[in-house]
Amino acid sequence: EAKTAGKNAVRFFDPAMQAILLVRMLLESNLRVALSQDQFQLYYQVQVNAAGGLLGAEALLRWFHPDRGFISPGEFIPVAEEAGLIIPIGRWVLETACAQLQQWQHDPLTADLTLAVNVSARQFRQSDFVEQVRSMIQQYAFPPDRLKIELTESTVLDDVDTTIRTMRDLRALGVGFSMDDFGTGYSSLAYLQKLPLTQLKIDQSFVRDLSEDENDATIVRAIISLGVNLGLDVIAEGVETDAQREFLMSHHCNAFQGYLFSRPLPLPEFEKLVRERRTAALSQE
Ligand code: C2E
Ligand code: MG
Ligand code: MG
Ligand code: MG
Repeated sequence: EAKTAGKNAVRFFDPAMQAILLVRMLLESNLRVALSQDQFQLYYQVQVNAAGGLLGAEALLRWFHPDRGFISPGEFIPVAEEAGLIIPIGRWVLETACAQLQQWQHDPLTADLTLAVNVSARQFRQSDFVEQVRSMIQQYAFPPDRLKIELTESTVLDDVDTTIRTMRDLRALGVGFSMDDFGTGYSSLAYLQKLPLTQLKIDQSFVRDLSEDENDATIVRAIISLGVNLGLDVIAEGVETDAQREFLMSHHCNAFQGYLFSRPLPLPEFEKLVRERRTAALSQE
């Protein structure tokens, strides 16, 4: 049978493997139309300080497929990265975020909010990435320090020298940098102090078992003092309980993100949350 399929036909004889490959190919081809058919949305998850004040948000990509419904970024981002589709998708995310920052400038209740955007290695490595960001800042005319770029340790480690150069150029524009999922990679102190970061973001895997796992508690304490010593802000992600928040606060971590405060929300709901929280805060003064 393999013979009659012709010599150019690629055949997979492991049915399980073939199924996996087909699902991946289907996902990739669906991803190719998703942008043009407006299937992406940004959700916004609030970031707060120790006093409960709002600092800003992280923009998180959501994909609603017309038949399959919600597909999580954990599933499609790796496929988009591998297929190179993360470049147009990432550009859309960045542009949508910048347009949002411009909108927020018009209202005193939202004008100071920062917005963090996740940027993949492949997107960050584009030779004109700095130019893209520069022209978006110009086009959307918002204070550049409102924009934060989240990179992971693996993105940075990919090519440390190029990363540092690109980061410096963007820092010179005023853009901030957060090291996402910090503690899960292989950062060494030697280059961590060379990176022009503004923030360390403690990975949620350490936050999760903070109250029960002495090792996680030790790691979290170490990350916080590392950040403080490097002069960086430290934020914890995945904060779900008061106990976690209290532990973090008692060790001088003063910014938080997690379900304890809010899930990632569609824009109208996020803005409603900001409005409610901030007008309540004003009326208490
Ligand atoms: P991340 O950047 O580390 O984002 C944090 C993830 O934790 C988000 O998952 C968020 O919904 C989730 N989360 C927030 N608070 C809690 C909590 O209290 N408990 C728990 N268990 N989870 C919480 P999400 O939205 O599924 O995104 C997963 C990952 O996909 C992100 O991890 C990021 O690496 C990637 N991603 C999302 N949006 C984009 C994007 O626009 N571009 C790129 N390149 N990657 C993105
Ligand atoms: Mg992130
Ligand atoms: Mg993270
Ligand atoms: Mg993560």
